[in-house]
Amino acid sequence: MPRLLLLLPTTTYRTEAFLEAASRLGVEITVGCDRTQALAARQPSHNVTLDFLHPKEAARVAALFARKYPIDAVVGVDDDTAVVAAAISEALELPHNSVESTLAAKNKHLMREMLRRCGVPVPRFAVFSLEDDPGDLAGRMTYPCVLKPLILAASRGVIRADGDREFVAAFRRIEAMLRQPEVAERGEPARRILVENFIPGQEVALEGLLTDGKLQVLALFDKPDPLDGPFFEETIYVTPSRHPAAVQDEIVSCAARAAAALGLREGPVHAELRFNSQGIWMIEMAARSIGGLCSRILRFGAGLSLEDLLLRHALGMEIESMERERQPAGVMMLPIPQAGVLRQVSGKEEAEAVPGIVEVAITSHLGQELVPLPEGARYLGFVFARAETPDRVEAALREAQPRLHFTIEPSPVESTV
Ligand code: ADP
Ligand code: CA
Repeated sequence: MPRLLLLLPTTTYRTEAFLEAASRLGVEITVGCDRTQALAARQPSHNVTLDFLHPKEAARVAALFARKYPIDAVVGVDDDTAVVAAAISEALELPHNSVESTLAAKNKHLMREMLRRCGVPVPRFAVFSLEDDPGDLAGRMTYPCVLKPLILAASRGVIRADGDREFVAAFRRIEAMLRQPEVAERGEPARRILVENFIPGQEVALEGLLTDGKLQVLALFDKPDPLDGPFFEETIYVTPSRHPAAVQDEIVSCAARAAAALGLREGPVHAELRFNSQGIWMIEMAARSIGGLCSRILRFGAGLSLEDLLLRHALGMEIESMERERQPAGVMMLPIPQAGVLRQVSGKEEAEAVPGIVEVAITSHLGQELVPLPEGARYLGFVFARAETPDRVEAALREAQPRLHFTIEPSPVESTV
């Protein structure tokens, strides 16, 4: 029986979805974790501990493991494990993205350089070091601009600045994030800040799957809430897109060129693009599928989940259809509105009673310390909707949200020692 190695970081929202898909496949599953699992010793073929921050070392350990338990495919679920999956696949000679392409997709500076070199439209950009003095740099910037770390995700540390003072404040704020030990340990890229032109316009997200370099679009999502900063919280995603067909075609073609420019050839991509009167702009392309619990709203062919599809694709198994179901669908990510401790959640039933709402999933737990953007990386939860039209999907999400109430007790102000 074939064996699939699934790389699951401890912080992912996607464990359940991937494990459920894996159990439906009828193949042997080994879970690669970056922490020793309690049961690992008892079931040595089911778990392997890998260092996700050191892909070469992880590949060495995985290759040893594979001598005893041969591996047929490796699947990562986030930016880091996409690199590890590529490194392991290379060691095992399995078809996969090159390690370089996954590294480029994870490092925003490298990505910008590779895209620009291949003529994919990207904002003008420059990269600075934490040793630089933002007070000196500010006067040389063109505003509005966006500052961001190279290696974080989920809009963490992405801040718009409209002038010198905001630039300096944003720089310092990102610097404080990057100096946190768990970020700083990521080395050189964690000591840099990318600054780029703010691209006004509408934003969309493209979910795609690459096979031998060819991009298949799985879903194109509109993001109807304005994303003008200063922080860029994800909220509503609605598919299919309501933008004109010609714009959608251009978006898809731009994404395909971006994948080629980065050298990505196999597996999922999740891209964000903007468009305005000047055309389409590539904001970002990641070598992974959509994050959070968002994939729950997607169904393909005869009812495959996104995770079913990705695992089958990785194993080279037959996929009857990658066509998303006809019905419009959407999800709202619920951003954390303020820092504090979550004390109470109410209104879930009321929100679920809104026509079109199929589920409200509250992922934060009572007692949890909540950190909003730009520092935080989590959501309060997710609201899922299906309806006859994308407009109705969006309306249902907007009607459901105010029915949810979160009591957040402000944290005591930390004393500075
Ligand atoms: P992350 O990996 O954290 O998602 P992104 O670079 O994708 O980082 O930025 C997050 C969001 O910030 C984007 O989806 C977009 O809304 C906004 N953003 C980032 N860069 C720009 C830019 N140059 N112009 C306008 N908006 C931007
Ligand atoms: Ca992004």
